[in-house]
Amino acid sequence: MAEQLNEYQGKATMEKITSLAKRRGFVFQSSEIYGGQNGAWDYGPLGIELKNRIAGAWWKEMTQINDDIVGLDAAILMHPRTWEASGHVENFTDPLVDCKKCKARFRADMIPEENLAAKKCPECGGELTDTRKFNLMFKTHIGPAEDTASIIYLRPETAQGIYVNYKNIIQSNRMKIPFGIAQIGKAFRNEIVTKNFIFRTCEFEQMEMQFFVKPGSDDEWFNEWKKRRWAYYDRLGVKMDHLRWHQHGPDELAHYAKDAYDIQYLFPMGWRELEGVHNRTNYDLTRHTQFSGKDMQYIDQDNNNERYIPYIIETSAGLTRNVLMILCDAYDEEQVADKGNDDDWRTVLRFHPSLAPVTVAVLPLMKKDGLAELALDIRRELKEDFATDYDQAGAIGRRYRRQDEAGTPFCVTIDYQSKDDGTVTLRFRDSMEQIRVPKSELTARLRQEIKDYKRIK
Ligand code: ATP
Repeated sequence: MAEQLNEYQGKATMEKITSLAKRRGFVFQSSEIYGGQNGAWDYGPLGIELKNRIAGAWWKEMTQINDDIVGLDAAILMHPRTWEASGHVENFTDPLVDCKKCKARFRADMIPEENLAAKKCPECGGELTDTRKFNLMFKTHIGPAEDTASIIYLRPETAQGIYVNYKNIIQSNRMKIPFGIAQIGKAFRNEIVTKNFIFRTCEFEQMEMQFFVKPGSDDEWFNEWKKRRWAYYDRLGVKMDHLRWHQHGPDELAHYAKDAYDIQYLFPMGWRELEGVHNRTNYDLTRHTQFSGKDMQYIDQDNNNERYIPYIIETSAGLTRNVLMILCDAYDEEQVADKGNDDDWRTVLRFHPSLAPVTVAVLPLMKKDGLAELALDIRRELKEDFATDYDQAGAIGRRYRRQDEAGTPFCVTIDYQSKDDGTVTLRFRDSMEQIRVPKSELTARLRQEIKDYKRIK
């Protein structure tokens, strides 16, 4: 067997994933030509497709599979009173310490306790400042006057846009409790430390669903949503032994929450939060009642007009963090030959076909003898149903590798036999198996393969 190149051969590391993401056009550093902008990233041609598909899978799960959940797209800019009511102006802070010597900045809860106690910088040993509270909300001004009356915030979570619209949605869509509102959108946090690629950024996207329930039924719904969110990741083909629950202890639990569990994923840098399932009680709607003066009670017309402020079960996932999770989860290096050179290994992204940026690549074996024309015809047909790519450059083996690295689950190769008998080669990314299929059956076959997909590695 060929000697392994180094101890990281065959393993996913954040460096490899970041570099693959850049090389193949998944994610680029923001404003790279100016040296880059911390905490912000740009999604390239493959990245935006992957992000859209992840968002689409979540949206389908929430608003299509569930009868009792509707969608919303609220504005990023909200009335500043919203953030007083929600508690963000007062409480949305992280503890910050600086090193007086090397000027490094840390979140106090993320450095070793001994360093904090001794006020010693974990990087250079210099003296640390006292811990102070730092509000994570981005603040700016709206309108031409930069005075206190014009202060406005970039929303730090999408949830509040749902709460302030909850009565509108009940009225316009005749929703009855229990019901949910789902939203995908940008959120902004002035994070003290942004690292690990797109894991923690200042500009990111969330997929949040707020489920409104009768007080007293909240524990049951909380458990139900825990179950549904777990099953969702299983259906997406995620490695389930890389997921676990983490219950918030008393010191982690937000002041408004009755119970909270995070779904954590085993990223290359360790177990980290992917999504939170929270019982937010009636805190948010009670606070909006107080701050807006509007009655936020639900009137149960099926139950003698009983009135109450609903409890809220929230499922809050990062969309951009899900992109990173799916990239890490899909990343694989596999030894496919034993010749002692670079070609022995292939890098493959084992995306679920419903998430892959390109579903099927069409490859003519040769450009000449009419094979390219035939391949383009086949691609034209497949385009109607699938995201396709076309590649006629270089040896066929190289082209397969390029598609493996982009996570394309199926390749269709057109050769001389295709001209004679109308069959093509269908090649599977995961097993590298190749079969011959009549081109007239391709669309139906691919649809079935996507539906029946089971991850093998
Ligand atoms: P942390 O304690 O790690 O700062 P959090 O517990 O405050 O995060 P939530 O407010 O519960 O996070 O946010 C819900 C989800 O939004 C998280 O599970 C995560 O997926 C995503 N998220 C939160 N902050 C960021 C960020 N800065 N960058 C990317 N995704 C984020």
